[in-house]
Amino acid sequence: MQLVFASNNKNKITEIQSILPETIKILSLEDIGCYEEIPETADTIEGNAILKANYVSEKYGFDCFADDTGLEVDALNGAPGVYSARYAGEQRDADDNMNKLLAALKDSSNRKAQFKTVIALNLKGKQELFTGIVRGEITLEKFGNKGFGYDPIFQPEEYQETFAQLPLEIKNKIGHRGKATQLLIAFLKAIE
Ligand code: IMP
Repeated sequence: MQLVFASNNKNKITEIQSILPETIKILSLEDIGCYEEIPETADTIEGNAILKANYVSEKYGFDCFADDTGLEVDALNGAPGVYSARYAGEQRDADDNMNKLLAALKDSSNRKAQFKTVIALNLKGKQELFTGIVRGEITLEKFGNKGFGYDPIFQPEEYQETFAQLPLEIKNKIGHRGKATQLLIAFLKAIE
């Protein structure tokens, strides 16, 4: 079985290929000659994952999966959510995004939040969605330098450190993307 992962991130592709049986061959966008920017214009995380997967299936004719992630803050009614990457502007700067979020929560006692990843899979004419969520809190300031994005200000439930302080193995195990990916892998293994 050949399956396109609608991503340009080589690390993500290598990582998922290493977990899957060899009978499932993961192709990158480059492998199928897709070099254009895929539209991410939906107003939900689910919608963007679906848009990306459908774009590749419809335009290139491949079975495919795509992921989309956002940070949803309870006190901000789920913002920045689908707009997480460009919360503080089109420069998509992680520090600017974190500063804006810390400012928005300055007077808030409710700092609960969650990361959510949705993977949309188009396989043999059917679509499946896999969702991974990790709950936690937005810290009062930035801690740690591992990871990326909002990791320095997100402290997962039951831990005393942020994702930017915790070892990557822990983030992968309890994190949003890891959970959604495990669901996808279990599904693919079951039908192989
Ligand atoms: P994407 O859908 O994976 O591109 O994620 C969208 C945005 O959400 C990123 O640009 C980051 O700002 C944020 N984000 C996604 N995953 C993570 C994560 O694991 N840690 C921190 N921030 C993340």
